[in-house]
Amino acid sequence: MNNSALRERFPTLFDENSRIEIYLDIDSKGWLKPVTEMLERLVDEQVNTPALRITQIKQKWGYLRVYGDDFSERADAIVEGAEEKTAATCDVCGAPGEPDKNPRGMTVGVRCANHARKYEEEKAALSVDLSQTKVGIFYVVNGDLLFNAVPLEQGEPYGDTVGFSAHIDYWEALAPRTPTEKLFKSHPYDYYPRGRVVYFKDINGLRLYADRCITEADIKNIVTTFQLPSGRVARMRDQHYQCAKCNAGYVDI
Ligand SMILES: [Zn+2]
Ligand SMILES: [Zn+2]
Repeated sequence: MNNSALRERFPTLFDENSRIEIYLDIDSKGWLKPVTEMLERLVDEQVNTPALRITQIKQKWGYLRVYGDDFSERADAIVEGAEEKTAATCDVCGAPGEPDKNPRGMTVGVRCANHARKYEEEKAALSVDLSQTKVGIFYVVNGDLLFNAVPLEQGEPYGDTVGFSAHIDYWEALAPRTPTEKLFKSHPYDYYPRGRVVYFKDINGLRLYADRCITEADIKNIVTTFQLPSGRVARMRDQHYQCAKCNAGYVDI
């Protein structure tokens, strides 16, 4: 039954201002019976309360919602009964059903086992394996990567993020052994291109902040070293990260 048919069938319940936002011929086919039964009972109730009107009827996030004017206690009870019934009725086929929740726990419909939505892709995306992923800081020194990183679970929480280490602390604490480290240490801490990998809880993903002269090949190296899962890392630029080359005013003292 489409919405104009519903309006024609129950002309005393719906007037021209009533918003019919339930689609018993499309999205909510399975609820045709409980909803029309409710409407029939409300028509019966109009014998007692003739002014009773429905101002809005809809399915929202898996729940039937009915709003109206001049609802009697009995009319409220009729609506409540229908809300309970639809909450346990597959909105596709009318068989017994349960709230169908997406991986984030939101109810998006009521479904029987046959019509429950499949969320494998979303679940896979949410359950991305970050057990090998590291957070921390890095430098690129003449193509070599220097870094200070720990596994994500040992990172330092800060608000909604998890990171590790600070460039200046790393530079100060480093006792140089390799030629690259010696070269690195022979300049101030902000001389070579640098960046950082940070985890963000809200997106369950990582952001890679990097100086703009860090090359694609360097980025690949960083992605491998930090074990950043594909599809879960966004590359960002950060004004903070300017090496001696990017920063025109840089003076090496
Ligand atoms: Zn079903
Ligand atoms: Zn630079």
